Amino acid sequence: MKACTRCKRILSLDSFHARNGKPGAACQCKGCAKERGFAYRAQNLEKIRAKDRKYIKQNREKIRERDRIYQDSHAEKIRTRRSNYYEANSDKIIANSKRYQLEHKGALVAKRKAESEQMTDSYIKHVLSNRTTLRKSQVPSELIPIKRLQLIIGRRAKEILDEEC
Ligand SMILES: [Zn+2]
Repeated sequence: MKACTRCKRILSLDSFHARNGKPGAACQCKGCAKERGFAYRAQNLEKIRAKDRKYIKQNREKIRERDRIYQDSHAEKIRTRRSNYYEANSDKIIANSKRYQLEHKGALVAKRKAESEQMTDSYIKHVLSNRTTLRKSQVPSELIPIKRLQLIIGRRAKEILDEEC
């Protein structure tokens, strides 16, 4: 038993995290450590978010691989959870999505236009999924550069025809 330096409660050692490999050696109890973590997060949200973004940007491949392994080994569970969630919340999800699209119509149109001009991977996937039976998430990445070339050819051909008129 020992006292937490923060909440002063007397608690058993397993109420404290290990420190330097020694079990129960932390000064503050697990409850206080958790609260302190939340408080730190709330006070430093922007800093933490920026750090998360940087990590994601620098480790994109690693994260993707990790996600893929997780998704492969939990496919059935994920599918069930997703469809259960959708079934239980479908009214809410559809209403939210409609409302979002209405509220952000201008921004969404601008975003799609910019993506189309820049031929981003996401845009190319969108085009491919519209013109095939694949869902956007199923479009294999090796098709993206090929489709991009095809779009460039199509757009160039259109420009030439427009110039001739
Ligand atoms: Zn405590």
